[in-house]
Amino acid sequence: MQKTNPSLFFVEGEAPGAPGLKGSHCPQCRQIVLLEVAACPQCGYRELDTVCIGQKATLGESSEVLHSTEGFEAPYYIGQIETAEGPHTFAPLDVKPGTQLCVGMPLTFKLHHRADGRVGFIYAVE
Ligand SMILES: [Zn+2]
Repeated sequence: MQKTNPSLFFVEGEAPGAPGLKGSHCPQCRQIVLLEVAACPQCGYRELDTVCIGQKATLGESSEVLHSTEGFEAPYYIGQIETAEGPHTFAPLDVKPGTQLCVGMPLTFKLHHRADGRVGFIYAVE
């Protein structure tokens, strides 16, 4: 399975709880951040655990996108994703045009199989 961005997320079987976003957990101060990082941004500790996060999230601000891009036919939506673990990111949303999106809506991480055979991710409204 070829991923659109291997550093950003896990598919099934790659980590406990996958699929989801790639994160790092600091066992010293309990900070959780996106991506695999070399040191904790809060305390500098370097023995971080790689964890799968963001399976559940809530929607922050969102916007309708009117220009098609690689793998996404306009119109589609993009939103600020507030993961249950804390880190924020942006991701496309799996909603039909005309859907009323509200801040605080619960979201679920989903793999997104593209026409070119690669797999990315998207957040679905529950
Ligand atoms: Zn730390």
